[in-house]
Amino acid sequence: SLEGRSAIVTGSTSGIGLGIAEALAKAGAAVMLNGFGDPTEIERQRAAMAEENDVDVAFDGADMSSPDAIRMMVERASARFGQIDIIVNNAGIQHVAPIAVFPAAKWDAILSINLSAAFHLVQATYAPMRARGYGRIINVASAHGLVASPYKSAYVAAKHGLVGLTKVIALEGAEFGVTANAICPGYVWTPLVEQQIDGQAKSHGIARDAVIRDVFLKDQPTKRFATVEELGALSVFLCSSSAASITGAAIPVDGGWTAH
Ligand code: NAD
Repeated sequence: SLEGRSAIVTGSTSGIGLGIAEALAKAGAAVMLNGFGDPTEIERQRAAMAEENDVDVAFDGADMSSPDAIRMMVERASARFGQIDIIVNNAGIQHVAPIAVFPAAKWDAILSINLSAAFHLVQATYAPMRARGYGRIINVASAHGLVASPYKSAYVAAKHGLVGLTKVIALEGAEFGVTANAICPGYVWTPLVEQQIDGQAKSHGIARDAVIRDVFLKDQPTKRFATVEELGALSVFLCSSSAASITGAAIPVDGGWTAH
């Protein structure tokens, strides 16, 4: 049980982050939600998560491309929860374009949100975790943190970077009860995937259902999308004392994609 623990999950108004936040709350952790979206819908999700699990659930709309906003979110979470035990760096964006025409502003935004935000959030929470002798850092990378695909230069670079950062955090925390691991999902059915289908259809010049079968799940041997519930369960396990020796790992949850 994660009773008495508290977590910040970035990008948790949707998709994988929401699934992980729900799993942590169900396990008894207090949770700070974060992300963009309709304020009424976010408040509905926050209140439901708190009520259903009888835990404290807060929300902070910090933009992960702003180091100052990240630090302010940490201050608010520390004040509300007393301490922060678990960080899930999950917020992420994607842009798909051939490298020759990849917009420089998209490159900067992807590096900032998918990689640098994790550095800033860990920097703001790491010293107290080490001092208390317990901390869990989970970085939601991707199979694209381990292997590449065309047209995703910034995303692949940021996710490989996130896997590297995970290893350094793990080494610096090793003797202090702080673990850091990267989860590397293959394709998970979420809005991020939904939103990529049309872009891929354009790049490859094929129809939507062909993109799903021949592009998305082409390399995923199980031929099924992973689920946010599977990623939530893994996150809860990584936060448990049973996972104390799992650190610095990049764990594929990709239906066998990176096995071949
Ligand atoms: P999603 O689009 O459903 O959710 C992304 C979340 O991040 C949302 O809550 C959004 O509001 C938030 N967000 C975006 N920009 C932000 C910013 N600047 N500041 C704060 N929050 C911001 O996406 P998802 O599929 O759930 O993806 C979550 C993570 O999982 C991403 O890092 C993504 O790269 C990774 N991932 C997804 C898949 C997949 O198949 N869906 C596979 C591998 C890795």
